[in-house]
Amino acid sequence: MMSLESNSNEIRPHVLGDRVVVLGAGIGGCFAAAALSKYFQSVLVLDKDELPDGPLSRRGVGQGLHIHGLLRRPFDIACKLLPGFEDDLRRAGGIKLQLGEQSFFHDAGAWHPKRDLGVAVYAQSRPLLEHVLRSRVAGLANVTFQDRTRVEDYIIHDGRIVAVGLQSDKQNEVVDADLVIDSTGRAGAIVDRLARLGYSDLESVELGVQISYTSAYFTRPAVPGKLPSGYVVRSNPPKTRSGVLWPIEGDKWVISLSGRFSDFPPADDEGFREFARSLEDPIVHEAIERESRVTPFVRFNIPRIYWRRFDRMSRFPDRLIPLGDTVAGFNPVYGQGMAVASLQVEELQATLAAHAAVGRPLDGISSEVLPRIAAATEAAWSMTEPVDLVFEKTTGARPQGFAERIAFAGAVRRAIVADDELHRAWARVANLIEDPSALVEILGRSESAKMSAAADGR
Ligand SMILES: Cc1cc2nc3c(=O)[nH]c(=O)nc-3n(C[C@H](O)[C@H](O)[C@H](O)COP(=O)(O)OP(=O)(O)OC[C@H]3O[C@@H](n4cnc5c(N)ncnc54)[C@H](O)[C@@H]3O)c2cc1C
Repeated sequence: MMSLESNSNEIRPHVLGDRVVVLGAGIGGCFAAAALSKYFQSVLVLDKDELPDGPLSRRGVGQGLHIHGLLRRPFDIACKLLPGFEDDLRRAGGIKLQLGEQSFFHDAGAWHPKRDLGVAVYAQSRPLLEHVLRSRVAGLANVTFQDRTRVEDYIIHDGRIVAVGLQSDKQNEVVDADLVIDSTGRAGAIVDRLARLGYSDLESVELGVQISYTSAYFTRPAVPGKLPSGYVVRSNPPKTRSGVLWPIEGDKWVISLSGRFSDFPPADDEGFREFARSLEDPIVHEAIERESRVTPFVRFNIPRIYWRRFDRMSRFPDRLIPLGDTVAGFNPVYGQGMAVASLQVEELQATLAAHAAVGRPLDGISSEVLPRIAAATEAAWSMTEPVDLVFEKTTGARPQGFAERIAFAGAVRRAIVADDELHRAWARVANLIEDPSALVEILGRSESAKMSAAADGR
C-alpha cells in the first residue's frame, strides 16, 4: 500500500486553505494534485485501488492496457507543473516520436505525406505514464496518497462541501476538506452522490457511438540504428474499423483495434488477425503476423460518450470541483481524454491563482470554475463531435452548422496532402496546442491561392 507522509509545515506563499482532498489518483487526480500543492497546506489524494509501486495496470483504470496516446498539450502542462517530467518519462522508457516522421496517420484511404510536422510526443503504456506522473506528484512535500480508500459520500453544509465520507479497510471515516476535487473517472459515481443529496437536475449531452476496443501487447525487437515509429490506420464512414500499432517501453507494441455498431474486434488470435487484415492498410496486420503476443487480449466497450453539464445545474455544492472523465467521457479514438483533464486543471489553477493574488477566499469558487471547465471541454468536444455524428447510426442531436463543419473537415483532410503549412497546423490543432481557427485561415489562403493560380492559367 502506498502511503506517503506529508511534510506540510513549510510556509507557502499562496495558501488558500488547509486541506484539499482529491478523489481518484488517475490522470486528472495527479494533474490536479500537482497544481493544487501550491495553494494548500496539504493535498490528500484518495483512491479505492491499491496503488502499485511500479508501472502496473490496476482495476480502477479498466482502460489502462489499451493504447493511450499522450497529446503534446498535456505533456507540456505536465512538464510545467512538474519540472523534470520529460527526463523521468524518457528514463522510464517513454519513446520520443516526431510526428510525421516517426508517427504516421492513414486516413480516408491514404497515408498523410511523410514530413516533419514540428510536434513531438512521447509513446509509452498508460501504466508507465501514470506511474511516472504519480511518482513525481508523490514527491511533492505536501502531497499524500492514501489508497484502498473508497469515496462514498459528500458531506454538505450550508450549500458547500465540508467533508467526504470514506470507506477504507472496512472502516468508515470522514475527512474534512476546504476544497474537494472529484476525479473518480468514468466509473466514479458522482451523479448518484449528487442525486442522493438532492442535486438532480443534471443535463448530459450523450452520443451513442457504440465503440469497442480490443488490445494486446506484442513483441517489438529493437533494430540497431533504427528508431521505432507509430502508426494509426483510421477508417472513414461508412467504414467503422480502425487500428493502432504503437511502440511502448520494454521493446513492445501495443496493438489496439476498434470497431463500431456491433462490428467489434474479436478477442481471440484468429479473429483479431482477420479484423486487422480488413483495415485499409496492411501495416497492423503485418505486425501481428510477424510478432508474438505477450499479454492476454483486453476489451473495453464505449456505448456512449458524454458531457455532463454541471455548469448548467440550478445549484451545485460550492467548493466541489469535478474534472476529467467525471465531466466528459470522450471517444478515445481521438486521444483527447487525458488532454482535456489537464486543460481543466489549468483552468482550476488559473482561478486559484487569481484568488491567491488578492487574498480572496474560496467561497463561490465552484460557480467560477465550472464554466471555465466547460469551456475547456467544449474546445475539444466540438472538434470531434461532428466526426462521430457523421455515422448515421450514432444517436444524438446534430449540432447547428453540422453539414458545414463536416465539409470543412473534409476540405482540410484533402488539402493537407499538398499543403505543408496546413498539415503542420493540423498537427498542432489535433494536439490541442493551437486553436482550430488557425486551420480556417490557412485553408482560406490556400484556396484563394489555388483560385488565382487557376485564373492566371486561363
Ligand atoms: C479504451 C480507451 C482508450 C483510451 N485512450 C486514450 C488515449 O489514447 N489518449 C487519451 O488522452 N485518453 C485516452 N482515454 C481516456 C483516458 O483514459 C481518460 O480520459 C483519463 O484517464 C481521465 O482521467 P481521470 O482522472 O478522469 O480518470 P481515471 O484516470 O480513469 O482515474 C479515475 C480514478 O478514480 C478512482 N476511483 C473511482 N471511483 C472511486 C471511488 N469511489 N473512490 C476512490 N477512488 C475512486 C479509480 O480507481 C481511478 O484511479 C482512453 C479511454 C479508453 C476507455
